[in-house]
Amino acid sequence: SKVPPIILNNGVEMPQLGFGVWQVPDDEAESAVATALEAGYRSIDTAAIYGNEEGVGKALATSGIPRQDLFITTKLWNSDHGYDSTLRAFDTSLAKLGLEYVDLYLIHWPLPSRGTFVDTYKALEAIYADGRAKAIGVSNFLPEHLRTLIEETSVIPAVDQIELHPHLQQHAAREYHAEQGIATEAWSPLGQGKGLLEVPAIVAIAQKHNRTPAQVVLRWHLQLGNIVIPKSVTPSRIRENIDVFDFTLDTEDMAAISALNEDRRIGPDPATFDMI
Ligand code: NAD
Repeated sequence: SKVPPIILNNGVEMPQLGFGVWQVPDDEAESAVATALEAGYRSIDTAAIYGNEEGVGKALATSGIPRQDLFITTKLWNSDHGYDSTLRAFDTSLAKLGLEYVDLYLIHWPLPSRGTFVDTYKALEAIYADGRAKAIGVSNFLPEHLRTLIEETSVIPAVDQIELHPHLQQHAAREYHAEQGIATEAWSPLGQGKGLLEVPAIVAIAQKHNRTPAQVVLRWHLQLGNIVIPKSVTPSRIRENIDVFDFTLDTEDMAAISALNEDRRIGPDPATFDMI
């Protein structure tokens, strides 16, 4: 594949760029994922709450791509926190995907006020021990949540998937991940495509390299070492977003984008988000 791997802390290889399917309806997921697979994506990021694991699974099944060449991530939803309910929710996700294992299983949110993420993670450890997830990790965990998890459980998360883009650069989290050997995965890597792709500094860098603003932002992530999972349902954009491995941003470009940090979230704050 044209996408290089990141080696996770248990030796598993994860493509550094994958395809995110949040807000893709189940009946459109099959064709969107099929387009992504044709374009060369091998990593797909879904979640139980996205309601499209069946559509994703159909695209995988009809693709003819050998299972070992795919990297499939799904996530445990908030209402299923707890040891037994996590085991049940995982079975449901596997069945919907039509898979015998996932490559990565994540706790979607920490829900710190509920005090359930340690027991929940122990169920992920059991799933990992069974070989039904090749790697386990978390999403939206702040360093304080990771610290608790690392103290109270045995398997250091392979990945923390967090909101990360030029307006929210997550320096403290990235530093803590690096110390602990946790890979940083960026969700909404394009800042959901809103204002970010029109920021003059990014547009100027795109013009300089004869690329698009989305490609420049993805390149910035890749050169920092982040895993990225851009989402699109538009075939030309799906192809554009993976066509980022034949140019390089220079030090000046990287610095100009790094200067755009505003510590501004689009999504919820993991410290307080507790929706079920
Ligand atoms: P994103 O940053 O990937 O932006 C997607 C949007 O950007 C598209 O809907 C489109 O409007 C625009 N876009 C995409 N490619 C473009 C291009 N080439 N040119 C111009 N515009 C383009 O946002 P996202 O979907 O929120 O995040 C990506 C993935 O991250 C999701 O699909 C999901 O898999 C994951 N995610 C996870 C969490 C979590 O809590 N773990 C939360 C949000 C998203």
